[in-house]
Amino acid sequence: MTATTIDGNRLAGELHARLAEEVQDLRASGVRPGLATVLVGEDYPAQAYERRVRRLADELDCRYVSEQLPADVELADALATIGRLNADPRITGILVLRPLPAQVPEVDLYRLLDPAKDIEAVTPVNAGLLAQGRPRFIPSTPAACFHMLDEYMRSTGRDPATAYDGVNLVLVGRSNNVGKPAVWLGLQRNATVISAHHYTDRAGRLPDFTRLADIVIVAVGVPGVVTGDMVRDGVIAIDVGINPVRDEATGKVHLVGDLDFESVAARAEAISPVPGGVGPITDIWLLHNTVRAAAMAAHVERPRHFGMAP
Ligand code: NAP
Repeated sequence: MTATTIDGNRLAGELHARLAEEVQDLRASGVRPGLATVLVGEDYPAQAYERRVRRLADELDCRYVSEQLPADVELADALATIGRLNADPRITGILVLRPLPAQVPEVDLYRLLDPAKDIEAVTPVNAGLLAQGRPRFIPSTPAACFHMLDEYMRSTGRDPATAYDGVNLVLVGRSNNVGKPAVWLGLQRNATVISAHHYTDRAGRLPDFTRLADIVIVAVGVPGVVTGDMVRDGVIAIDVGINPVRDEATGKVHLVGDLDFESVAARAEAISPVPGGVGPITDIWLLHNTVRAAAMAAHVERPRHFGMAP
């Protein structure tokens, strides 16, 4: 089987044009979206993500504020940063970048975050709304996964409104930002959802579940954690992982995903690459949510999840 590679850069390019229109419409109403990112420490993928969204915000002429805190920051100072951003009317969306150090538990930050600015739906209220199928914001990474899947379904003549009915969707990874919200989005689409995680792997049972998948979404942060012998022929495989790997010979760092691309592609119907897969769509979606938050705060018409059904 020759897998179709789902081109995230092309899909992101299409969404970029729509996002630029959304920003223009909002500016015509006198509203300027403002994004703030909070980065603690010096994690390589988080820094790279910060640079990408900064560039995108600049391109779109959105306001952008970058809060960079040292790895040993005290929880009280991190909370104070969130409090300041909550209170700043020029900031309409706040992204807390992960990973966070142990002394700054993510749930403590999420508890304080203003739900109106919580564009990743990590606060209890926004996560709850998402779980109930009526999201205020669809978090950017799971949104990007399902956008890729929806567009791939369309390209093969399947209607995304029914294409997931009863299919086996296996999510590997259960973080609050990716795996868990993807569970809710999958259930909302009538998929049969299985959530696997580190303990599934430690029990030696990960392949038992990945082999059941019609669709597998892997968000773990371990290069090649899912290999070709762990999936069945015709699977549709989405790779969220971003893992920096240093080439010993050249010293250069390149990025690989969580799928063992070659062996999974040999069996899959379709597969998303890393880089050039989920990542570029995630960036656009984050800014889209920032625009949506700005519109809601200003009580003007808000764009609707790029037309995606929750
Ligand atoms: P995270 O918070 O560290 O969560 C990782 C999840 O993977 C956890 O649920 C963990 O299980 C599970 N896990 C760890 N080792 C495992 C194993 N051997 N087998 C099965 N499951 C395992 O990570 P995250 O924020 O969700 O991110 C995951 C990856 O996606 C990272 O590489 C990150 O850089 C990338 N990412 C990419 C984008 C994008 O736009 N493309 C966006 C966000 C994140 P437990 O819960 O049991 O510990």
